[in-house]
Amino acid sequence: MSPITISSCPTISKNGTGEIKICNTIQWSKDQTWQLEFCFDGDLLPLSEELDPWLVLALLPAMCAGRDLELTHPVSSRLLQNLPAIQSIFNTWDATYKKIKVSAPTRPDPGFNGKGKTACFFSGGVDSFYTILKYRDKIDVLIHLDNPWAREEGRARMLGKIKEAAERLGKPLIIIKSNFRDFLDTYTEWEYSHGAAIMALALFLTPYISKIYLAGDYTYASLEPNGVHPLLDPLWGTETLEVIHDGLEATRLQKIELMEGNNIMLSSLRVCWENIENELNCGRCRKCLYTMVSLRAAGLLNHCPTFAVPLDLEYLVNFDFLTVAARWCLLENLEALENRGTDPELEEALRRSLARQKPLPQQKLLTGTDPELSELRQKVTFYDQTLRFQLADKVNRLLSKNRAIHRVGETLAHRAWKWLK
Ligand SMILES: [Zn+2]
Repeated sequence: MSPITISSCPTISKNGTGEIKICNTIQWSKDQTWQLEFCFDGDLLPLSEELDPWLVLALLPAMCAGRDLELTHPVSSRLLQNLPAIQSIFNTWDATYKKIKVSAPTRPDPGFNGKGKTACFFSGGVDSFYTILKYRDKIDVLIHLDNPWAREEGRARMLGKIKEAAERLGKPLIIIKSNFRDFLDTYTEWEYSHGAAIMALALFLTPYISKIYLAGDYTYASLEPNGVHPLLDPLWGTETLEVIHDGLEATRLQKIELMEGNNIMLSSLRVCWENIENELNCGRCRKCLYTMVSLRAAGLLNHCPTFAVPLDLEYLVNFDFLTVAARWCLLENLEALENRGTDPELEEALRRSLARQKPLPQQKLLTGTDPELSELRQKVTFYDQTLRFQLADKVNRLLSKNRAIHRVGETLAHRAWKWLK
């Protein structure tokens, strides 16, 4: 099968409305091309014309298609050297991401001068607020990816809040729009491809930034396969861009408490994946629910006006949380509340919610077969099994107090045992 090629250099244009646009073509096959474009809201921004971001964007779709990738212009040699490790990580998580050959010339190493700005991705959620407030003195500029799915009115409101928050944080904000999801969603799962996608945004800005912080939403204890992951993120860096995955040391509740009721965060918080008209957060989806639980456990939910509806405990109890991360978050909150005894009503709702969760859907893990990278695979496996054991152990430790969640402990312990077999 012929390789997917990127043979043209990107074109940069200014559209007269203060935006700068960068476009390029991915030659998918003889008959099919993908024209990808990115609009940056500042037309004075220096953008990279290298092919690094385009390589990063094309990698996972090419892996899913099992097709080699060929670039005719030079890319970062560090990035190219890291591609086998990046591919191994995805391949051990899900073998439908096949290992492919990537060929490209490399450019000479310009040396890292670290003189560029330090940036941080800013979604408006708990994790990015936490990282920005933690490194407030070090971070110079914020980068926000505009959500192309929200309706016009909702988008304007969302962007307004993001801009207002950046202004109150005293940081310049770069807003980027792109059509890349049409391309990525055709071949990959966004759960995996979103990390590469946002790294491409940082790589466009390498003439301007030399360090980028990426706020993750897992802790060291709760890591699971995801497109934004501490094993993965630094590997997308180049000779001139350092990538730092941040925030693994604190749970969602701890992050909220460490921010000490920061009112910029409380008045602009946006965590929701649904795009409902005129609201920042639906208050009904998985992410809204577990964030509202953490805010309430921290005693701050009443000070956060960005949820469309109040936290409905009966709805919480009956909601199916289908990820380890969400259940982990509920457990952390339950444990904290039991120690504090400050909110028995929420405590009871969390107990009932955890007790009625069904076993998690089977994940496609540990299916890679490459013997050369067994060390890396073991590392990934270690995170996964540790997580399941810890989760089961944690639930079981709570059993003496909470008979009601016996069932979830048993289910999880059984699953962990099955994984080891
Ligand atoms: Zn929501």
